[in-house]
Amino acid sequence: MPMRSGGEKMGKRKSMSSKMAQRKKPAPKLDTAFCCPFCNHPGGVSCTIDLKLLVASAACYVCEEAYHTTAHHLTEPVDIYHDWIDACEKANQAGDCYKPQRRVGGGDDDDDSDA
Ligand SMILES: [Zn+2]
Repeated sequence: MPMRSGGEKMGKRKSMSSKMAQRKKPAPKLDTAFCCPFCNHPGGVSCTIDLKLLVASAACYVCEEAYHTTAHHLTEPVDIYHDWIDACEKANQAGDCYKPQRRVGGGDDDDDSDA
């Protein structure tokens, strides 16, 4: 029984085909339309930045939800949007903490016993 512990693996050596096409973005196009966190309408949210008032706002034209935050010269629409999402998540978490307790036991007695 010839012991051939050849270290050669399967000869599957393809030369790396240069499939890595480098896609360069010609111009950084800033997105100003985003998916609404409330109605999930793609592109429903548009952001505006007022650098005079330093106010940034994002608003959905579909469900008319809106969010306002402070802006500065480096604020980008996507920042506002992320801020909004953040705020929504916080609100959701806060909402989870507060659960209105259902009062059990109190039947639906329509007993108008007004004395
Ligand atoms: Zn919406």
